[in-house]
Amino acid sequence: MILFQKAAEIERFLKPYQHSSKTIGFVPTMGALHEGHLSLLHLSKEQCYITVCSIFINPTQFNDPKDFEQYPKTLTNDLQLLIQHQADVLFLPSVEEMYPQGFQATSYDLGYLEEVLEGKFRPGHFQGVCQVIERFLNILQPQFIFMGQKDFQQCKVVQKLIELKHLPVKMITGKTLREKDGLAMSSRNLRLSPEARRKATALYTTLLFIKEQLPYEPIFTRLKEDATERLLKQGFEKVDYVEILNAETFQPATIYNKQVPLIALAAAYIDGVRLIDNMPLTDY
Ligand code: AMP
Repeated sequence: MILFQKAAEIERFLKPYQHSSKTIGFVPTMGALHEGHLSLLHLSKEQCYITVCSIFINPTQFNDPKDFEQYPKTLTNDLQLLIQHQADVLFLPSVEEMYPQGFQATSYDLGYLEEVLEGKFRPGHFQGVCQVIERFLNILQPQFIFMGQKDFQQCKVVQKLIELKHLPVKMITGKTLREKDGLAMSSRNLRLSPEARRKATALYTTLLFIKEQLPYEPIFTRLKEDATERLLKQGFEKVDYVEILNAETFQPATIYNKQVPLIALAAAYIDGVRLIDNMPLTDY
């Protein structure tokens, strides 16, 4: 694995592959790697000639400074995992390298996508996501970018960014990898106490509850209230949202119809750690 820390150096290295049939696959991460990240690395390796992973905890996407400070850092382990899983290139830039002096922050018109769920509860978050992804795409110019369905709304936002800026890259989404008890793998799980970790599986079982109840519970408001109550009863201290949306339009869904692609999404705090997860409710 070749490690780069400077944008100009990785740009020079990747130039022969850009716009060529020797495709570049890009897997952006914030580190504290787990099998979910590695599954994206493997998807890229299956499909692309060269796979570039990045580790960068992007300060501009954290609306809560404490969350930024406390974000888990496990670089030695990450390097071992990336070597073991045969990543070709790691880009590990500093903040100054990503946002050099004179860097102009643009504002992205994400419209409705930024007004709901993560957009509503984490103001500015998706602007930061777009900023860092656009910067990465400009430096690396990959033909493919691999993102996890675990961050469903983020996938929608990055797709919108690609369209807004006419970026010559195709996004591929990978399915959510889970722990044995169903909890979605997340770097933030490292911050949970053993007790909170045990209880956190309720986020998964609650989404499963929604999926199972859906055909029998045509009124979604009640179902969402029941789900919220379950989370609170099972140890979550605060629920930002439990939503059932049309997975394509991202608009709130009101009725169950097998033809409409539905997805349940939730965000809640346990032990002061904010976890998110989602589950497709119909086959699509
Ligand atoms: P992060 O390091 O949390 O920014 O995540 C980097 C990429 O890994 C994003 O595209 C995430 O959606 C994806 N990812 C995070 N958790 C999982 C998971 N449990 N399964 C699959 N992909 C994931």
